[in-house]
Amino acid sequence: MMKIRKYVGDLCLTTGENHRGNCPVCGGRNTFTATNDNGVVKYNCYKNTCTIGGFIHTDLTAAEIMMIMRQTAEQKRHREKETMEIPQYVVKPMPTHLKFNRFVRRWGLAIDNLLYDVKDERVVFPIHHKVVIALDPDAIDKTIKYRSEIQAWTGLRTMAYMLNDDVKYRVEDDMEKLKGMLNNE
Ligand SMILES: [Zn+2]
Repeated sequence: MMKIRKYVGDLCLTTGENHRGNCPVCGGRNTFTATNDNGVVKYNCYKNTCTIGGFIHTDLTAAEIMMIMRQTAEQKRHREKETMEIPQYVVKPMPTHLKFNRFVRRWGLAIDNLLYDVKDERVVFPIHHKVVIALDPDAIDKTIKYRSEIQAWTGLRTMAYMLNDDVKYRVEDDMEKLKGMLNNE
């Protein structure tokens, strides 16, 4: 038994790597396989008369650990993206949603794509393909934090823009630059 473990170890499979070859125990031609799955090498022989098979644990290199962590984070991100759906309390706005209508009028927004969150009484901006975070010049820390969080969460290209002044003043230069950022691909 020690011999087969040494044989598998000596294949030096890195994580994700497979080996297929002659069985070192029964001599079966091309019946022996070994796969390294995140540091656990699973091996067995497909020949009916051969019962060899099992696992050995290998030490992961730092680079392999980094790769596994990246893949796990990536998979998690994909899962979250797929399961993200609009909750029931986010609805199409009605004339009776006074707060919504006040907000839209105040900022002169085009309401075509906007939704209303009746639970928290806030306007919802559905995100389609690009996000620009624009906050006051004194909120630079928040802008940077939101940018990376929103990008990680949505997987969308997210840019930060520092306004010359609070968006409520609609400084012309800010409006032009924001339009430019949203329109340029
Ligand atoms: Zn075999």
